[in-house]
Amino acid sequence: MNIQFNSLPVVPLRITSKYGHRNIGLKGASTFHRGIDLGRDFSKQETEILAVADGVIANNYWNNTRGWVVIIDHGNFKTLYQHLKRQSPLPKGSRVKAGQHIGIMGASTKTIRGMAMHLHFELIYRNKSIDAEPYLKNIVEVEELTEEQVREIVREEIKEALSGNGSEVQGWAKKAWEEETAAGLTTGERPLGYMTRQEGIYLLNKIKKLFGK
Ligand SMILES: [Zn+2]
Repeated sequence: MNIQFNSLPVVPLRITSKYGHRNIGLKGASTFHRGIDLGRDFSKQETEILAVADGVIANNYWNNTRGWVVIIDHGNFKTLYQHLKRQSPLPKGSRVKAGQHIGIMGASTKTIRGMAMHLHFELIYRNKSIDAEPYLKNIVEVEELTEEQVREIVREEIKEALSGNGSEVQGWAKKAWEEETAAGLTTGERPLGYMTRQEGIYLLNKIKKLFGK
C-alpha cells in the first residue's frame, strides 16, 4: 500500500474515538465511523493540526456537518481533517510538508449538537476511508540529525545550563548577592547558574572558617 506518515496530525496523540462501528446510544443502532477522533492538547489554549506527510492541499471548504475541512493529496493516499476552528489559511493547490501547520482544532459543524472540540481525521486510500491508527503508531522521524548536529545541540544545552537562564539577581537574593560580591564570596557572575559540588564545598568551608568551627 505504501502509506507512510511522517508526522502526527496532533501532538500529543490522544484517540477519543476509533475507526469502525460504534454505538450512538440508540437501541440497536450503530453508525460506521470513517475516521479517528483525536482530542485536544489540554496544556494549550489552541491545538495545532499538522500535515501527516508531504502533499498538496486538494480541498479547503465548509460543509454543514463536517465544518471547516482540509484534504491533503499525498500522491497515493489522501488525508482529511475536519471540524477546524476556522478555515485553514492554506489555499487549494498549496504544497505542504510533513509536520506543517495546516489549521487549528475546533468544533465547527452546523448539524451536530453539543459536539466537543476534536479533530476528525480520515485516511483515504483509493477513494475509501480506511483505519489510520496503524499508520499513526508507525511514525518515523522526518529528519535524522548528523553526529555533528547532535554534538552542537548538547554543547548549546551545557552552555545554557551553566550560564543559567537569566543574568539578573532575583529580588529576594539581591541584598545578600551584593554584600557577598563585595566581600569576595562570589565574583558576581551568572547569578542563576547552577552550583557545582566543588563550589558548594568551597563555600561551606569558607563559612566554617568565618564562624571558627
Ligand atoms: Zn469522527
